[in-house]
Amino acid sequence: MAKVLDSKIPAGPVPEKWKEYKAHQRLVNPKNKLKLDVIVVGTGLAGASAAASLGEMGFNVINLCIQDSPRRAHSIAAQGGINAAKCYQNDGDSVYRLFYDTVKGGDYRAREANVYRLAEVSNNIIDQCVAQGVPFAREYGGMLANRSFGGAQVSRTFYAKGQTGQQLLLGAYSSLSCQVQAGKVKLYTRYEMEDVVIVDGRARGIIAKNLVTGKLERFSANAVVIATGGYGNTYFLSTNAMGCNCTAAIQCYRKGAFFANPSYVQIHPTCIPVHGDKQSKLTLMSESLRNDGRIWVPKNIEDAKKLQKGEINPWDIAEEDRDYYLERRYPAFGNLVPRDVASRAAKERCDKGFGVNNTGLAVYLDFSESINRLGIDVIMQRYGNLFEMYEEITDVFPGEFAKEINGVKYYKPMMIFPAVHYTMGGIWVDYELQTTIPGLFAIGECNFSDHGANRLGASALMQGLADGYFVLPYTIQNYLADQAVWPKVSTDLPEFAEVEKAVNAEMDRLLNIKGKRSVDSLHKELGHIMWEYVGMGRTAEGLKTGLKKMHELEKEFDSNLFVPGTKEGLNIELDKAIHLRDFFTMGQLVAFDALSRNESCGGHFREEYQTEEGEAKRDDENYFYVGCWEYQGKGNEPTLTKEPLEYEAIKVQTRNYKN
Ligand SMILES: Cc1cc2nc3c(=O)[nH]c(=O)nc-3n(C[C@H](O)[C@H](O)[C@H](O)COP(=O)(O)OP(=O)(O)OC[C@H]3O[C@@H](n4cnc5c(N)ncnc54)[C@H](O)[C@@H]3O)c2cc1C
Repeated sequence: MAKVLDSKIPAGPVPEKWKEYKAHQRLVNPKNKLKLDVIVVGTGLAGASAAASLGEMGFNVINLCIQDSPRRAHSIAAQGGINAAKCYQNDGDSVYRLFYDTVKGGDYRAREANVYRLAEVSNNIIDQCVAQGVPFAREYGGMLANRSFGGAQVSRTFYAKGQTGQQLLLGAYSSLSCQVQAGKVKLYTRYEMEDVVIVDGRARGIIAKNLVTGKLERFSANAVVIATGGYGNTYFLSTNAMGCNCTAAIQCYRKGAFFANPSYVQIHPTCIPVHGDKQSKLTLMSESLRNDGRIWVPKNIEDAKKLQKGEINPWDIAEEDRDYYLERRYPAFGNLVPRDVASRAAKERCDKGFGVNNTGLAVYLDFSESINRLGIDVIMQRYGNLFEMYEEITDVFPGEFAKEINGVKYYKPMMIFPAVHYTMGGIWVDYELQTTIPGLFAIGECNFSDHGANRLGASALMQGLADGYFVLPYTIQNYLADQAVWPKVSTDLPEFAEVEKAVNAEMDRLLNIKGKRSVDSLHKELGHIMWEYVGMGRTAEGLKTGLKKMHELEKEFDSNLFVPGTKEGLNIELDKAIHLRDFFTMGQLVAFDALSRNESCGGHFREEYQTEEGEAKRDDENYFYVGCWEYQGKGNEPTLTKEPLEYEAIKVQTRNYKN
């Protein structure tokens, strides 16, 4: 029997509670000369914005990242944009509408109150970033420009060409640097958190490895915040940066932090298809391209077969023989349906044999209509760097004129296919972003908080910056308020020594296996299992097989791994081995959660639970909850605790993107 968890959420959408936080903010301000220390692990958009804000508010911040500069965090990969309910287009947008779209996009599995707060602060984020000098795209008249992303019928996405994440991170980094200069933030680059230290039931510090010297170091503080990103790389091939890992989150999970909704993994519909088994990374083509690109496959199976064999080209197929399947199936949203819907629709076409490319595992994203309507210059202004990136990888320039049929000019299309991209699941947090371990907070992609079973495009940056600039800096004070009377714990405490010893012992264990398999070969095999059995379409039987295979492969990892080198100095293979150890725990967690959730919702698609039209079939009677998992030791099934979802402002209904 699963336990029931109290999320400590104030009832309903939050205005009253929000005022309390604002009042609280006045109690703790820089002039109070606080002596409270906070560790922030991560310098992506969530971590950098949180560290900068906490520093600005007077806390002493220790900020760590694994890269050589905060500017190289994975967040720089974000291309398309960031949502906000400014309604600059005068198209009927509002805080409520952004809130509603996000809850609906998440297939009614998000916590309602959190999403309302997110929508509320969305506008502040844009103001903050503009004030920092982030060069958002502008209209000719100087107003900030917008484009549309999936799951919305308004234009609310702010962007900086195809480099929104990078520009936002530069903004956050400039604030962070200001606090470094002011002495409020101490930055540790090339440091990796290996474990969290718990003293008397509270998170009081971390053990981190200096990645250059290999030495372990102890850090203590009044609270620890992890902002360490998602776990998409469990699948080996994903659009995530190669360094993305879930070690910090999994170590917190092992220490008692609940892990929520791990099965909610986002598979993005517009990625460059896999092109061989030597590949270690997939590339995203931003969802923003669906504003002007149309997705299609041939109507006739014979054409698909010819395309697969390379006997014809896409531009040989006339308009009437193209199946713009998203426009056909979802007339109201067309190419801008949410990602889970678009990915499943692509899979459905490819499964039926209509896929293109020599593998049959691709569909076209075609800009012919928009180039004919707007001209190539406008299209290049909007997506130039994405077209160039596509050309660099595939040697095809998507705007190149190819052929004219019946007076219609056709240009070379992109080929795309779904790939693992984002993880909605993450460390469970309450409304104040605190985990089940007092004093340990989780923000950004590494928590589960706002996206339910499916994240809408341009909402991750919004959430990361909402958490970092506008939520955590206030809510953490509710925890820290009574910490001011506590002395900071010493790193000489036995608790620190014990954790450090255990981390050391783990590194020795991995180095001493001295087997024959490289980290990457095992990781690739884990990725195959994940994609095959825990991927886009899941079944109870497949998940059980996947779990069995993962268990066997983990044994192989424990007995036949080869890690060259030593603990001293830089040892990237050792760091990767530690990450892989944790991807095994993560992969099994995803499978356990997927197996326990006998319904389909958002990114979690159980083939047994679908409508006649192949849409996800939810079971609100039995699964209207956040699934929170508690670690029970290696190899053991974790236990499930349920946080019931309570909706007051939004009526829970079946998602409809057709009309
Ligand atoms: C290709 C791509 C395009 C995207 N485009 C968009 C978009 O247009 N709009 C949008 O809203 N979202 C987009 N996303 C999603 C978005 O970029 C991410 O969800 C978001 O940037 C995550 O930010 P974060 O701060 O939570 O984590 P990250 O940016 O992943 O940062 C994690 C940080 O934690 C550090 N770290 C990790 N582990 C440790 C450890 N153990 N010890 C110390 N430090 C550690 C890393 O060094 C890093 O600094 C995109 C994602 C991808 C992959």
